[in-house]
Amino acid sequence: MLTIEAAQARILDAVKPSGEESVALADACGRFLAADISSPIELPPFDNSAMDGYAVRASDVAGASAERPAALRVIGRAPAGSVFAGELAAGDCVRLFTGSPLPRGADAVVMQEDCRAEADRVLVLDAVKPWENVRFAGEDVKRGALLAARGTRLGFGHISLLAATGVARVSVGRAPRAGILGTGDELREAGGPLAPGQIFESNRAGLALLARRAGAVPEIFPIVRDEPAAVRAALRAALDACDVVISSGGVSVGEHDFVKEAFTQLGGTVGFWQVAMKPGKPLVFGQCGGKFFFGLPGNPVSALVCFLVFVAPALARWQGATEPLPPLVPGELLEALENRGDRPHFLRVTQDARGGVRSAGTQASHVLNSLASANGLVRVPPRTALPPGERVGVMRWE
Ligand code: AMP
Ligand code: MG
Repeated sequence: MLTIEAAQARILDAVKPSGEESVALADACGRFLAADISSPIELPPFDNSAMDGYAVRASDVAGASAERPAALRVIGRAPAGSVFAGELAAGDCVRLFTGSPLPRGADAVVMQEDCRAEADRVLVLDAVKPWENVRFAGEDVKRGALLAARGTRLGFGHISLLAATGVARVSVGRAPRAGILGTGDELREAGGPLAPGQIFESNRAGLALLARRAGAVPEIFPIVRDEPAAVRAALRAALDACDVVISSGGVSVGEHDFVKEAFTQLGGTVGFWQVAMKPGKPLVFGQCGGKFFFGLPGNPVSALVCFLVFVAPALARWQGATEPLPPLVPGELLEALENRGDRPHFLRVTQDARGGVRSAGTQASHVLNSLASANGLVRVPPRTALPPGERVGVMRWE
């Protein structure tokens, strides 16, 4: 049986970045950059005012105070977006606003709160140092500076920065089509009635949501019956239509578990099918004709855990991520978390807004009730009790 790390390493080794596409910057959130982006311009693009006020020569107002104001001639005005064409001579000033280009000859801006306007002149009530209240061209970003590296997952900050440098489109890793299957004779579509012994199918909606968040385009396929031919046909259809196929159920050692066998009959190569972890021990990872397959266990919690630990990194890697493994949010235990078993156990936890972490309740992998209040997983090593106050990393899904 593989360790979690070994299984992740095999997945990340097998899956390669798989093509790129150009998207509008506004649509690029959550996507992975396919190439480094350097700034085509400097930011700010020109020296400009940090205040509403007056552009001055600092030497003209050197000794100014409320008692002994310096009187300056207002020779023009430059609202943000316009340029004052002239140049300041001794005793001149120009009315400016935040973001207005600094006129030639000026070397400081006096904020308007320190000025008193009088007809065509202004009384300056306070001195300014040279370059006070001036934002210099290029002080924020130099031309040619690296803005975001290839493999970065784009978020708000990157998108704002790229927009400010005039980048309209970016090249990102292509979004994988992720086929989502659910297998089991007991499963019924929501909305219909349940016969005795049946349950509503509940994995596909959640897995599709997680796949979308991981940057994939999910496609939900019909429920698959526990019959070898049906499983084969469903896998074939999904593998043909998608880049990555994610099924749940039918991967244990029961007599009705046909998924692994069906996959190999279609020509798929199974990379591994058991990982030492709880929940989620039976888990198939394989490849078939350049497509990737994950056969997740059917228990909804097991499927969730396996998705976060194995499938999300694969989808990220497929899109070219440099850091495909799930990020861990630092937290502190507010109560003990214990694993008496001999495999690492991912426990469902609720992390509060201040970082405190509690168990989300019953941890059995068929229990759904605690899922709604949980927002992440904490990995507890075998035969370990983590005490209250322990610092942990939370793999968050909300
Ligand atoms: P299996 O992995 O097929 O042995 O299923 C394990 C458990 O998960 C069984 O109780 C199934 O009924 C349940 N299960 C499997 N697939 C789903 C699904 N898509 N939605 C809800 N429950 C499921
Ligand atoms: Mg089943």
